Amino acid sequence: MVKCNKCSKEAVVKLHYNKTDLCGNCFCDQFENRVKNANKEFKLIELNQKIAVGISGGKDSAAMLYILHKIVEKVHGTTLQPILIDEGILGYRNEAIKKAQALCEKLGLELKVFSYRDGFKLTMDEIMDLKKANPKAGFERSCTYCGVFRKTLLNKAALEMKADTLAIGHNLDDIAQTFLMNMFHNEPERLKRFDVINDEVEGFVPRIKPLIYNPEKEVALYCELKRLPYFRGECPYSNESFRGEIKNFLNNLEQKFPGVKFNLLRAYLSMRGELQKAVEFDKMFPNNGKKKGNNGKNGNKQELENSQKIAEMIVNAGSFSIAKQKDADLQTTGKPTSTITKCKNCGQNSSTQLCKACSFVIEIGRKKMETEGQNRAIGGKQKKSIKKFD
Ligand SMILES: [Zn+2]
Ligand SMILES: [Zn+2]
Repeated sequence: MVKCNKCSKEAVVKLHYNKTDLCGNCFCDQFENRVKNANKEFKLIELNQKIAVGISGGKDSAAMLYILHKIVEKVHGTTLQPILIDEGILGYRNEAIKKAQALCEKLGLELKVFSYRDGFKLTMDEIMDLKKANPKAGFERSCTYCGVFRKTLLNKAALEMKADTLAIGHNLDDIAQTFLMNMFHNEPERLKRFDVINDEVEGFVPRIKPLIYNPEKEVALYCELKRLPYFRGECPYSNESFRGEIKNFLNNLEQKFPGVKFNLLRAYLSMRGELQKAVEFDKMFPNNGKKKGNNGKNGNKQELENSQKIAEMIVNAGSFSIAKQKDADLQTTGKPTSTITKCKNCGQNSSTQLCKACSFVIEIGRKKMETEGQNRAIGGKQKKSIKKFD
């Protein structure tokens, strides 16, 4: 019998990255302590907060909700509101919702469900059917649409319920994958904006990721040991994703060199401060390092806005109120100095005139009409040719 390194009961798991054998109880304690440590280190949960918890019915969000529920019991005035996004994938999400409901009942919480059908008047099944019917129409990968729609709807739901933060069940593997994907795609901008803990962008509810220190395999074991209801199936469309490739790559690497996932996370965290500074710098000088727009006029205007921002920072440093200064800017220039505007279609904050979700909805609608038009044309030709042979 292999003994637990902490209490000498029978071990149920061997953790290669730190060469320990643990029994069920000690494993669960360690798992929960990692969430508590992330909470302390990054100040995820504070007093008197409303936390929207994005759950999917899967293992990650099940473990997250269960542990947050334990933590929040000891935090004065803080409450949890589980929310679930239904993408409209038959045989997958509808089954997962049942598990999510069972977990919420167990914890005495009420689950709120938001669907693509209500939010965008379409479902992932419909998009994938269209893509199948018209493969040359240039549809994106399923995960590209789904990622944008889910993020948009989660944020909308969290804003509507006036949540202070939105908890997301991204585990260590997810973070390591995203970090690596941004590097492989050479997307330094995304890398700068992707933050393990808090994507604080105007108009978006800050997101917290309490499971960053928990490897995916251990999340599954934790759910089994705690007998939490969760859905084991995988998304039928997930084989289309680049993330899947990275996931296999990292899992193979972890097997050969235990600890690489934690090392990737540490590497990311060690450069996090510098990346955040770079984001702040870019906000102030959006044209830095890029070609200037069409003429010098825009450049001058941008420089003027930048100097106003710098002036605000100086005033701010002197602890004066900048609210009045902002009002004055509005009166003189007619618009705020921030580059964030509202989406013309849905009103959500966006850096472009149409937010990504709305432009996808419009694009899919156009492709749907094209596909239907082609089908009608084919149908017409067939009828004609049938007549000929009559
Ligand atoms: Zn033990
Ligand atoms: Zn929009």
